[in-house]
Amino acid sequence: MTTHREPLDSVLDTVGETPLVRVHGSPDAVPVYAKLESFNPGASIKDRIGKYMLEAMLDSGELPEGGTVVEPTAGNTGIGFAVAARQLDIRAVFVVPERFSVEKQTLMRALGADVINTPTDAGMGGAIERARELADELDDAVVPQQFSNPLNAEAHYATTGPEIYDALDGEVGAVVAGCGTAGTLMGIARYAREQHPDTYVCAVEPTGSMYAAKFGSDPDEGDYKTEGIGTHDPATNELFDPDLVDELRAVPDERAHEELGRLAAEEGHLVASSAGAASVAARSVAERAAAGDIDLPHDSVVTVFPDSSERYLSKGIYREFEAWEG
Ligand code: PMP
Repeated sequence: MTTHREPLDSVLDTVGETPLVRVHGSPDAVPVYAKLESFNPGASIKDRIGKYMLEAMLDSGELPEGGTVVEPTAGNTGIGFAVAARQLDIRAVFVVPERFSVEKQTLMRALGADVINTPTDAGMGGAIERARELADELDDAVVPQQFSNPLNAEAHYATTGPEIYDALDGEVGAVVAGCGTAGTLMGIARYAREQHPDTYVCAVEPTGSMYAAKFGSDPDEGDYKTEGIGTHDPATNELFDPDLVDELRAVPDERAHEELGRLAAEEGHLVASSAGAASVAARSVAERAAAGDIDLPHDSVVTVFPDSSERYLSKGIYREFEAWEG
C-alpha cells in the first residue's frame, strides 16, 4: 500500500491505493477482504471515477478546458466529481433527487459545486433528464453520465482491480460488490476474469431492486432504503453485463443494517448500508466456498465498502446509539 510519505501537490493525488482489510466473521479457510473506499479524499469510491473520468474527458477534448460538468447523482459521485473538478478548473453542477442524504448535498456545495434537486417521485430517471436539459442550456457543458459511460467501469478496471490483485499477490477467488451504476463491479470483474477466467463474481442489490430483469427474470419490484445500490430504471443499469456475473444476491434493508452495526461494533468499520449488504453477500459466498458448494480458483473473497456511515447520521443509520438528551 502506498503510504504517501512524500508531500503531494493536491488531494487528487490521494485518490485510490485504499487499504484492503480482512473482514472477520468469515471462515478462516476462505477469508473475506474489503477495500475501504472511505479512505479516499471525498470519502467514497466515487472519487476514483471523478478523477479518472474528468481527466480522460479533458485529455480527449470532450470536456473543454474551463468547461462545466452536469451530472445526475445520488451524492457520492457528485462529491467525487466536485473534488476533481475544482482541482482541474472545471465548474460542477449536480442534479440530485430529494430523497438522498443532506450531508452529501452539503458537501458538494462546500466543494464549490451547484446542486439542483429533482422530485423523489421522478426517480433517478428524472434527474438524468433534468441534467440533459441543463447541459443543453449551458455553453461548454458536458454530462459525463456515470450510468452509461464506459469510462466509469474503466476507472475500476484501471485502478481498483489491479490494487486488489496486487495486495493479494493475485490470489483472488471471488469478487463481490454492490451495484448502483455497476461500474465498480464491472470494472473489477473484467480485470479479475482476465487474471483467472473462473473468478467467481457476485453482484449485490437491495431486495426490491430490479437487476434480475437483466437476466430476463421477473423481479419483485419494491421500495428499499439502502443508498447507492439497486436499480428501478433501465436508464441507470446500462453498464451491468450479466455475462460477467455468476450470482445476483438481493439483501434486505434489515440484513444490511444489522450487518453494518456488527461491522462497527465488532470490527471498527464505520460503513453504510451498501457496505453492510456487500458484507452479507461476501460472507455468504465465503461460507458456501468453505463448505464446498462453490469452487473458487483461490480461497479468498474480495468485496468493497464504498463509503462511511458518518454521511448518513441524519438518516438514523445509528439511531439506536443516539443520545440527544444528556
Ligand atoms: N455504495 C454507495 C454508497 C454508492 O454511492 C455507490 C455509487 N452509486 C455504490 C455503492 C455503487 O457503486 P457503483 O455505482 O459503481 O455500482
